[in-house]
Amino acid sequence: MRRPFVAGNWKMFKNVAEARHLVSELVPGLQGVEGVEKVLCPPFTSLLAVAALLEGTDIGLGAQNMHWETSGAYTGEISPPMVAETCRYVILGHSERRALFGETDLMINRKVKSALSHGLTPIVCIGETLDEYESKKTVDVISSQLNNGLSGTGEYFSGGNIMPLIIAYEPVWAIGSGRPSTANGAALVIGNVIRPNLAKFFGDNAAQVARILYGGSVKSSNAAEFFQEGEIDGALVGGASLKAREFIQIVQAAAR
Ligand code: PEP
Repeated sequence: MRRPFVAGNWKMFKNVAEARHLVSELVPGLQGVEGVEKVLCPPFTSLLAVAALLEGTDIGLGAQNMHWETSGAYTGEISPPMVAETCRYVILGHSERRALFGETDLMINRKVKSALSHGLTPIVCIGETLDEYESKKTVDVISSQLNNGLSGTGEYFSGGNIMPLIIAYEPVWAIGSGRPSTANGAALVIGNVIRPNLAKFFGDNAAQVARILYGGSVKSSNAAEFFQEGEIDGALVGGASLKAREFIQIVQAAAR
């Protein structure tokens, strides 16, 4: 039984005051929703403030990125122990990091291993571009992102019930476009490509307990369709996570 998981990726939105305001609207609505793991991923500058407001709630906190090194001369970067001071989760390999900041599978692999060794749960994003989708390369692209991005991580899964990472399948063409994948299309990629690849790394049991999210233009009006698919264990939500009512309704849909 996989517990549904919904995370809000705030991207580069909300200063500290705005973040506090959004959290004050979110907490009362999210707190009552049982059976769903919910996580907020604000910008680095708001992590401390949001962490303080989430104390004593069942809402988790995540960062949107990090460097793989523990410390050093890496101007502008944030290390895993720094993230771990406030967060349990970290989004890694988001398509915007890949496309706009040159992140490669190798860099993402370093980050994933570093997150795991610092006790963080990575939310690893994978997904094909529109070109790749239209030229029917989805299976190849996803498999290679997983093979390269998760290489060498098998040792972090001991065979128990705790799966140390979460995968977010986010077709690049669906992110921020208002043009989501169909629920069935996403479920097919997850069930036929992603889960079998996870089985290669971690074994069949681990692949069955691993949570795999869909991301890309999820809103309150379409969330239920995705969550009805048995293969889809939740969502990584961008734009709609910036509106309290929308995000609360998405989490409520995951609970159902
Ligand atoms: C995202 O940024 O991960 C995302 C899925 O964005 P949106 O929900 O806005 O498409």
